[in-house]
Amino acid sequence: MNRRDRVPESTPRLDPRAPFVVDTRELSRRPGSMRGVTRTVPAPEGMALDVIGVPVGSDVALDLRLEAVMEGVLVSGTAEVHIAGECVRCLEPLEDDLVVDVQELYAYPGSSSADADEDEVHHLEGDLRDVVVLALPLQPVCEEDCPGLCVECGARLAEDPDHRHDALDPRWAALGGLLDGRER
Ligand SMILES: [Zn+2]
Ligand SMILES: [Zn+2]
Repeated sequence: MNRRDRVPESTPRLDPRAPFVVDTRELSRRPGSMRGVTRTVPAPEGMALDVIGVPVGSDVALDLRLEAVMEGVLVSGTAEVHIAGECVRCLEPLEDDLVVDVQELYAYPGSSSADADEDEVHHLEGDLRDVVVLALPLQPVCEEDCPGLCVECGARLAEDPDHRHDALDPRWAALGGLLDGRER
């Protein structure tokens, strides 16, 4: 999917349905000019791994600075996202907040480092998605010392720390029952 297909280069105005669009035309091309962008946008699809991710539509708080540099616009700052998933050890749902650093250079059209079809209106969405996905924990845990599940019966060990099973093999358990019966 080519993101540029959705907003043609000739688009004269911002697409209000594209919250990640930052219009750099408001920024003077004089190197050093700056503009802050603080806004909350809905999370797009794809900011996720199998076990954890940013719920689609949840708030993504952008706190960015746009700075004109020689080659283009340097966008830097942070994005704060809410993540939800499950603990890889005990499978309980977990939620957390994650702040990721953003730093991307969007080259001006015609500058040596620009793509041939670079647009004045730049999309942060794809880049931000990549940054967030890289920052997601690969092995999320509810607590650092989460003891996980009992390998025998699947019980949550955090709720039952003294949980244990008799070392008895199930085949011997039947025999144990016979012996108990005899003692009665
Ligand atoms: Zn856990
Ligand atoms: Zn158990």
